[in-house]
Order: sequence, then C-alpha cells, then structure tokens
Amino acid sequence: MEKKGRIGIIGLGLIGGSMAISLSRSCDVVGMSRNPETVEYALSSGMITSAARSYSDFAGCDAVVVCTPLSLVKKTVEDVYAALGDTTVITDVGSVKGMLSGLPGRIIGGHPMAGTEQSGIRAAKERLLENAYYILVDYNDNPADLELVRRIALACGAVPVVMSAARHDRLVAKISHLEHMAAYALVNSAMTGDEHIVGSGFMDTTRIASSSPEFWNTVAALNRGNIVDEMDRYIATLSDLRRDIAAGRDITAFLAEAKEKRDKLKYSRRFMSEYVVYADVPDCVGSIVGVLDRLAAAGISISNLTVMNSREGAGGALRIELKDEPSYRKAKEILG
Ligand code: NAP
Repeated sequence: MEKKGRIGIIGLGLIGGSMAISLSRSCDVVGMSRNPETVEYALSSGMITSAARSYSDFAGCDAVVVCTPLSLVKKTVEDVYAALGDTTVITDVGSVKGMLSGLPGRIIGGHPMAGTEQSGIRAAKERLLENAYYILVDYNDNPADLELVRRIALACGAVPVVMSAARHDRLVAKISHLEHMAAYALVNSAMTGDEHIVGSGFMDTTRIASSSPEFWNTVAALNRGNIVDEMDRYIATLSDLRRDIAAGRDITAFLAEAKEKRDKLKYSRRFMSEYVVYADVPDCVGSIVGVLDRLAAAGISISNLTVMNSREGAGGALRIELKDEPSYRKAKEILG
C-alpha cells in the first residue's frame, strides 16, 4: 500500500510508540527518542520508517507529534518551532493543555485519554488509543491544521473531541487529577503502619496511587489552580459528610444520590471496562479454571482478571472485567 504523508514523533514511549505503530500503517513515520536503543528497536520492529537526529530532520513532515514526558513537552514544542517555524504543524499529547497557550506557530494541542501504568517503547500497543477520547485544542485558530491532527487521532482509532485548553484543564482536574490526589492522600492518611489486612474497598479506591509520583508532581504544578478548586469542593463535601456523621444524622439520602450517579456510569462509558463481575471461588485446585471454562463455553471473552485476597464487600475472590455490556449481562447470569 502506498503511504500517504509523513509524520514525525518525538519520544518513543508508551504513547509515542503506540501512535507510531498505528500511523506507520498509512504514513512514513520519522522517529526520535532520547535513548539510541529505543530508536533502534523502533526501526527494527517497523514502528518508524526513519530516525531523526535533530529537529531539522523533521523538515518535510506534515506534522510533528511531541510525546516526551510531560515536564518536557512545552520546551520540546518551543525547540521544534525554533527549528522548523511554520513549515509544519506541531502537536503534542501532554496531559495538561494550558501550558501551550500563547505559543506561536501552527500548534494544535492533543491529549489522548488512554494509557496504562506501564511506560517505555516496549509497553506500546497498536490498539492503545482505540475508542479513547482524543482531546484537540486549536490554540491559534488554524482549522486546516486542526483537521490534519483530527485525522491523526482517527488513524490511531481514537475519538477526536475539540475544546479549549481552559475547558480541558478544568475537566481533567475534575475527572482525573482530583482523584489521583485524593487516592495518594487516602493512602497516606489510612496507612499508619499498623494495618495487616486491607479491604477490597481500599484497594479499589487507591489503585491509582501506584501511578508515577514524578508525573503527578508535574501535573499538580501545571494544573494547580483547577486542582485546588476541585480539592476545595471535595473538602467541603467531605466536611459536610463528617458533620452529619458526627451529629448522628441519617446519611442514606446522600449515599443513595452518589450510588445512583455512579451506577449510571457503568452503562455510559465508552472506554475502560466498567463491566465487572465477581465470582466466589473455593480455595481448591481448578476452581478458577472452572469459572473461566463456564464463561468460555458461553462465548464470553474477558478483558481482565484479578484474584483478590480480600473478599470484604465484594462477595467473591475473582474479579472479572468484561469487554461490553452484553458480555457483562451474560456473565452475571451465568455466575449469579
Ligand atoms: P513514556 O512511556 O515514559 O514515554 C516517553 C518517552 O520519551 C520515554 O520512553 C523516553 O524514551 C522518551 N524521552 C524522554 N526524554 C526525551 C527527550 N528529551 N527527547 C526525546 N525523547 C525523550 O511516557 P508516556 O506515558 O508515553 O507519556 C508521554 C506523554 O504522553 C506525556 O506528555 C504524557 O502527559 C502524555 N500522556 C500519557 C498518558 C499515559 O497514561 N501514560 C496518557 C495520555 C497522555 P527513551 O528514554 O526510551 O528514548
């Protein structure tokens, strides 16, 4: 197949590598990374067509996608602009978007809302961005450039959504940044050193506290105002709840409102499995295989499996994530 277009990618890690795999199906991909072994791996596995040693090697690219660690994104965008000026579109994948506001050039911000806890080129996967929202920001009103980056997002299987940098940063503060700060704080406040047993509730609520401290320190610095606003709102809600509990009031209505809102999400999210069933498995050889066999016999494919050590509140020891709602409903029926 004849390749159409030439795209540069800087930072061949989880996101940059995954985009390179997808884009290399239809474009020539010019790659650059910090570690020469990474570039060698990308070339030998066909993720990139050629390697760039300096930013001027990206001359002739339709767009350059900056996928470096978040703390380096702004500086990298500025350096690429200094080398190439307005000859190419510069876009990024950074998780905060306000940091590029006011920069000159044909800059289109991007944030693919996909990822895993892994990093580096060997964690890259062709389908990583599939069905993930890919937020786009047109800083300097360049509709044709926005369209080009929209097509890049589509080529990666993502779902492009255009919004302002300010709206993006407010949104991610609410749906992601607050949750990470709350999880880190919860771990430090709850784990005082004398706990020997942890509940599944603690594990579920704090899973994201195992994320990279360096990355989240950068996020906190770059989206400070919005994160502080969201923390204030959360602290006020917690304070009200604390007051009601301390006064011995009935909090069922408060809890029921939250449950109703949370339950609705199960059926509306487009990515990240929320279709989870729990299965009770006795502590004997073959019991897990038995559960999986029953699902396989019904043609249900599972997307994730966790063996839980604590059963508190979950009613089972096997946590099974399903791909979609029909699989979820069928699995519920089979496992009860
Ligand atoms: P990552 O796996 O660590 O990839 C970044 C890669 O950049 C590193 O593997 C490193 O590769 C390379 N690199 C480091 N310094 C460099 C430099 N000075 N010049 C060129 N390459 C350099 O991280 P990631 O998760 O892909 O994150 C990259 C960007 O994606 C960040 O801006 C982040 O905000 C954004 N993002 C991440 C996620 C997520 O969940 N992970 C989601 C959405 C957006 P070598 O050292 O091997 O060369």
